[in-house]
Amino acid sequence: MIRCVSCGAEYDDDEVIYTCEKCGSVLELVSDIDVSKDIFDGRRDNLWKFKECIPVDETKIVSLNEGGTPFCKCDKLGDELGVNLYVKVEGSNPTGSFKDRGMTVGMTKAMELGVSTVGCASTGNTSASLAAYAARAGLRCIVFLPSGKVALGKLAQAMFHGAEVMSINGNFDEALEAMTSLALEKYLYLLNSINPYRLEGQKTIGYEILRDLDWQSPDRIILPVGNAGNISAIWKGVSEFYNAGFVKDLPMMTGIQAEGACPVTNAFKKGDKRVVPVENPETVATAIRIGAPVSDIKALNAIYDSNGYSETVSDEEILDAQKLLARTEGIGVEPASAASIAGLKKLVDQGVIDKGETITCVVTGHLLKDPNTAIDACTKPIEVDADIDTLRKLLMN
Ligand SMILES: *Cc1c(COP(=O)(O)O)cnc(C)c1O
Ligand SMILES: [Zn+2]
Repeated sequence: MIRCVSCGAEYDDDEVIYTCEKCGSVLELVSDIDVSKDIFDGRRDNLWKFKECIPVDETKIVSLNEGGTPFCKCDKLGDELGVNLYVKVEGSNPTGSFKDRGMTVGMTKAMELGVSTVGCASTGNTSASLAAYAARAGLRCIVFLPSGKVALGKLAQAMFHGAEVMSINGNFDEALEAMTSLALEKYLYLLNSINPYRLEGQKTIGYEILRDLDWQSPDRIILPVGNAGNISAIWKGVSEFYNAGFVKDLPMMTGIQAEGACPVTNAFKKGDKRVVPVENPETVATAIRIGAPVSDIKALNAIYDSNGYSETVSDEEILDAQKLLARTEGIGVEPASAASIAGLKKLVDQGVIDKGETITCVVTGHLLKDPNTAIDACTKPIEVDADIDTLRKLLMN
């Protein structure tokens, strides 16, 4: 069953519907977990090990073996900050971001519904993922990207997997509005995160974190927030497993935004339940360069209900954290993902995060997604002949 998060109106699972017909609010799937957590043991470690908890037809699954991502204990960085730190590395998914979790479920639903064309607006990763899963499913794929603002690796993926890519003169929010209109006119099946099936896939990040910690909850989960679907999904996942009795505690959901694109943090600091859109969002972290997040209600509920927090970080703090994580722990992430680490650092400094807390930072996408930003952050390699004497001298410096 699909339910409106604001007015509680209910809709059938097989209705193609993105927002509530009665009040216009966002929708979610309502599922009851009536299995024991022991059934997950011994299964292949990917997202579909949780298939009983994902409300789609398992005979229609379109998968690239997503999920089951690394969960790295980061003692060097954790000790420096005085916390017990784990990093969930979502860049290890098939197309290099957590979007694959949403897409395997969303594409499975598309097959169930029998649609022929899928589409999305994207800051990059959603299009990369949709293009790959549409190829696997054999469906036509249309993507809208904000012109000039998509990281090179993501653009390469969307084009290479055969999506019909349109570069929209406008920002992400405008591209999404246009794409949504076309979906409502039934030109295509929309696979942005307003589609509640996307979040049914992404909630498994929450499932896995609890499982990775041997069925304990961390004190806090920190992640970057853009369109605000992922923080909503992870909260849904941990809440479902908590309600099923698999863990005794819940984490404080902590959403980090870039200073130039921070409608959720603004709303949180005022205690509001809805955001006021940011008109011209700007940040180096293009994956979270979003001014009007569609899942604002769900995300703010997650933060308030979990006694969580939201904070902003500057582009400089993001790029510093990206390099710190890469050089201290060997984990390479794209700028948006590093917002979680930058936010952790800032909230420890501010005393919002207590010393000794067990923290999971979700790093959402791979370093190679945005090679230009990575190269710009480094000094150029030294050009030198393959002459041993010269090289020896250089190494002794
Ligand atoms: C999509 C994305 C985000 C933002 O997630 P939302 O669900 O839109 O809040 C953050 N980081 C990366 C790498 C992403 O691709
Ligand atoms: Zn409603």
